[in-house]
This record gives sequence, C-alpha cells and structure tokens, in this order.
Amino acid sequence: MIHASFSGRLVMLGFGSIGQGVLPLILRHIAMPRERITIITAEPRGAEVAAEYGIRFVQQAVTRENLRVVLLPELAPGDFLLNLSVDVSSVALIALVQEIGALYLDTCIEPWPGGYTDPTLTPSQRSNYGLRESALALRDGVAGRPTAVLTHGANPGLVSHLVKQALLNLAGTGVAVPAGREGWAALAQQLGVKVIHIAERDTQVASHPKQVGEFVNTWSIDGFVGEGCQPAELGWGTHEKALPPDGHRHAFGCDAAIWLARPGASTRVRSWTPLEGPFHGFLITHNEAISLADYYTVRDAAGAVTYRPTAHYAYHPCDDAVLSVHEIAGKNWHMQPAKRLMMEEITGGTDELGVLLMGHAKGAYWFGSRLSIEQARALAPHNNATSLQVTAAVLAGLVWAMENPRAGIIEADEIDHARCMDIMRPYLGEVVGEFSDWTPLQDREVLFSEALDREDPWQFQNFRVV
Ligand code: NAD
Repeated sequence: MIHASFSGRLVMLGFGSIGQGVLPLILRHIAMPRERITIITAEPRGAEVAAEYGIRFVQQAVTRENLRVVLLPELAPGDFLLNLSVDVSSVALIALVQEIGALYLDTCIEPWPGGYTDPTLTPSQRSNYGLRESALALRDGVAGRPTAVLTHGANPGLVSHLVKQALLNLAGTGVAVPAGREGWAALAQQLGVKVIHIAERDTQVASHPKQVGEFVNTWSIDGFVGEGCQPAELGWGTHEKALPPDGHRHAFGCDAAIWLARPGASTRVRSWTPLEGPFHGFLITHNEAISLADYYTVRDAAGAVTYRPTAHYAYHPCDDAVLSVHEIAGKNWHMQPAKRLMMEEITGGTDELGVLLMGHAKGAYWFGSRLSIEQARALAPHNNATSLQVTAAVLAGLVWAMENPRAGIIEADEIDHARCMDIMRPYLGEVVGEFSDWTPLQDREVLFSEALDREDPWQFQNFRVV
C-alpha cells in the first residue's frame, strides 16, 4: 500500500543496518521517483544494496567542517533529510535543515564523534538528557516550522506509541482517547502506572558463535557501545522514596530524569517479557526514558509535579551481545578488534520488544511486538527481526512527517499514535498484550538477605541488580 507521495528529494545520511533495511520499505510505501533519493555515507558498506535498487550512492563522511559543503547542494526547501548515521551531530543537522526549510527525521540524537565518552564533559553533559535538551532548545516557538521528528525508531520511537495503546488497553472499552499531553498524563495517573520498562529480549542466534575479541550484535555496534558507555539514565517517578546512592539530578532542563554514576552497560535491572519471563536487562540510557517521564508528568496549578512514572530501558540483547558486553567491560570499555553485525547468518530467534506498565490495579501489563527472524525475512529484504521493528517505525515517522510538514521539532510522544501504529503493524509480527503477576520481589531472599522495600514492590531499589 502506498502511504504517501513525495515530490521533493530525499537524502539518507548513513546506510548501515537501519538505512539498508528501510530503503525497501520506502520504495514500497512512498510514491517518489527513485532518482530523487541519494545516500550519503562514510563507508562503502551497503553500496551493493543501493545498486540493487538503482539509488545514487555517495561515499562521503560528514564532519563538523564539511557539513554545509556536503549537504547544502543536496537539500532545498521541502526536501527530506533522513539521518540514520552514527557520529554526526543531530543537533547540527537539525539546525541546518531548519535553516534550509527541509524536513528531518532521526532515530537517535547523536553527538559528534567521541561525544558519548568525552572525559572533559560532565556525565550530565554527555547524557541523553543533555542531548535531548540541546535538540529541544532549537524549538523557537515560531509556528509552522518544517517538521523535524526526533528519535523515531523502535526505541526510542515505536515504544511511545505502544505506551499509549497499552494505556488505552488498560483503561478498557469506553475510555475516550485523550486529545493531548495533559489528557494522556492524567490517564496514566488515574490508572496508577508507577513504572514503565522498555522490556526487550532478543533471542536471535547465528550459525557461528561470537569469537574472542569480537563484538556481535543485531544492530549498530558503534551505536550500542556508544550509548552503553553513557551514564545509565532513567525517568524518575514521583512514587520513588529515595534517590539511588549513585543517583544524580541534572542542574538544568525539564528535571524529569536522573543519571547514575556508572555506564548503562554495567547497570542491570530485573524485568519481564511474556516469552522470556523474568530476566536481567541492561539499563542502557535511551531518549524515551526521559521523553516518556517528561510527557506523562502531571503538575498542580502552582506548577509542582504531582505525578510522573519511572521509565527506563531493560534490554537483554542477543546472547552473543551479552558476551560481547561482558568482554568489553573487562577491557574498561575498549572496543574489541572485530565487529560483526549479524544478518544473513542468523539461524533463529525472536525480538520481543514492548512496554511493561507496572504498579496499576492489575499489577503488570506488557504490550509489544514479537517478531521472529523468519517473519522478518518474509516481510522485507535486508532486515533482521531487530532492524525491522526499527525500520517500520522510521517508515511511519517519514509518512507522518510528509503528511504533517509544518509541525516543527517534535518527539514520538507528541505524534498521532494510531496513524503510526496502522503503518507499522504489518511489520511487527504478533502485536500482543499480556498481564502478569510478576513483581521484582518474586523469588527474592531465598538464599541471601537483600535490602528490599517490601511495602512497595515498584521501587527502583527492588528492580536494580546489585
Ligand atoms: P550502523 O553502525 O549499522 O551504520 C551507521 C552508518 O553511519 C554507516 O553507514 C556509517 O558509514 C555511517 N556513518 C558513520 N559516520 C558517518 C559520517 N561521519 N558521515 C556519514 N555517515 C556516517 O548503524 P545502524 O544500526 O544503522 O544505526 C544507525 C542509527 O540508528 C544509530 O544512531 C543508532 O543508534 C540508531 N538506531 C536507533 C534505533 C531505535 O530503535 N531508535 C535502533 C537501532 C539503531
């Protein structure tokens, strides 16, 4: 089905796992001449895929110095910059496209190279909270600015739409769909949602296992390592009784989130998905942890916060990636000599990616996508289960931006979830909701005593693996 027609030019910056996976979806669902699409990317990787579809391929790394020289000739008012690169500052790109009058979408607010791990920056400055604040600061309040969709992949992206649908499912039939942010936040508060996990278990396996000295993953290794080395971050709910001992507030911005003084890739939390059951996931920082907590904030007339959920990622990547993280942690985060992004060699497994809403009257409710590698391959070429959940969301964001070209700088939480779900759903495998009586207190203190809060199972202290 054609979802949109586009008469402008489309520049794809970066052509890794997500770029290569989304190209066939764009050609399938957006009516536009393929000679109006250009790929600009740092490496030859993917050149054969571009050639397969007859798309112009320019091998050119974008840097601080050449940003304008490379992109100005390629973009005019009404054109589209689809940023799927690593190591190119999203904020610099958004400022440029807003100046040009072009549309924009990315899946992560990326800094310039080294920005995630620059020791001269404070942890707060190299957090996703800081990156998000710097992107939102580009909003100038002028109505009718070109649309720039921030972080619209699977997570961040799809999961914001899943939270809205999960809230409606929890509320049951007859509930009116809220019209705006205040209404959605009030619904979450009425339902008593205390904690939202982005609970993901990826079980994809390859024909040959990870080798010593190799980092293996189902999506960007640079992206995963970069964000894994940022401080762990979480939206900080109003039900939490005490800051974690290593927890810090930021001294600027919306104040919806905190950071922990350690990398996310060495911070683990207990979580739950329907197929996996209980598991330990990495609390990797992600934009949605902050944007969800900010969006679902209720304030009183004086502006004081009266409700906010705790929100964060609980990520169990594929087993080879867990081993890769263990190895890189032992080397104090120095990257292994070899990297392997699993694609053709995957022999089985499923990416179970959803949102786990907890603390309400029914305990815990997971709602999300369950996509196997076999389903992903049958649905779209050049994808695995993980990338297709992302590329479906990129497609939905592109279509929404083309339908709403004057929405300014905008986050997934602010976008029509029903329209996006319609576009994404055919690519998400089974979209399922399941209730559970699981809490992070289940089976605890059988062998050892632990510092637990038995009065309130939903305290972060109970989720954290120490
Ligand atoms: P990848 O590592 O497979 O590919 C990155 C691409 O960026 C490569 O083509 C590389 O050549 C290009 N690149 C690197 N430096 C560049 C430069 N200076 N100029 C131009 N191009 C450059 O990554 P991926 O898995 O395709 O992920 C791409 C982005 O999407 C990352 O920011 C990642 O964090 C993000 N992502 C988001 C989600 C989500 O759900 N929101 C999921 C996966 C990936």
